[in-house]
Amino acid sequence: MSFFHSINSRSSKSYSKPSPSSGVRSSQFKLRQYAEATLGSGSLRQAVRLPEGEDKNEWLAVNTVDFYNQINMLYGTVTEFCSPQTCPEMKATDEYEYLWKDNDKFKRPTTLSAPDYIEHLMNWVQSYFENEAVFPSKIGVPFPKNFQQIIAKIFKRLYRVYAHIYCHHFEIITQLGIQPHLNTSLKHFIYFIQEFDLVDRKDFGPLTEFVDKMVADGKTK
Ligand code: ZN
Repeated sequence: MSFFHSINSRSSKSYSKPSPSSGVRSSQFKLRQYAEATLGSGSLRQAVRLPEGEDKNEWLAVNTVDFYNQINMLYGTVTEFCSPQTCPEMKATDEYEYLWKDNDKFKRPTTLSAPDYIEHLMNWVQSYFENEAVFPSKIGVPFPKNFQQIIAKIFKRLYRVYAHIYCHHFEIITQLGIQPHLNTSLKHFIYFIQEFDLVDRKDFGPLTEFVDKMVADGKTK
């Protein structure tokens, strides 16, 4: 069964939120509570909007950490089925291969196995979180000027984990009963991307039609 056949199954209303990362400051905690309360109300479209009077960068930061945790958790459910043997390349269908590049060890786009790629990706995101100059943990310390560009880049890359899971591990996701969570998580992610104009539609690759339909379905919500 491919995920394309399951387009019509609606995402579940239940939403499991990952535990908040440690060391968040109180304003982030408040924002997170707000996000959780809004999610509980069932409207993802509403949940992604910047709460009135809140700082946009703060909102982007909190949500980036949450999506990172969600994706980590979702990928964690398939890691034993995603090995260098099963997935020697980081692909989303045979048409799209994602090459890894960073400013550290991989200065040129490089083929990595999917688990390797995702490990590098998660560490790369984590290193931003730990960088006080990018994600300041102290109140009053400003975010960098290029913060939104960094966030856009993080989202563009995190999206690829969804793409890989959908295209190559959908069967196990279905068997494990995680599909509603995966759909809800992706929908939330896409709404967030659209709300803040973070990733181009062309970067949705093999999921473009699926995403279009998902978003169209959610229009009334
Ligand atoms: Zn894989």
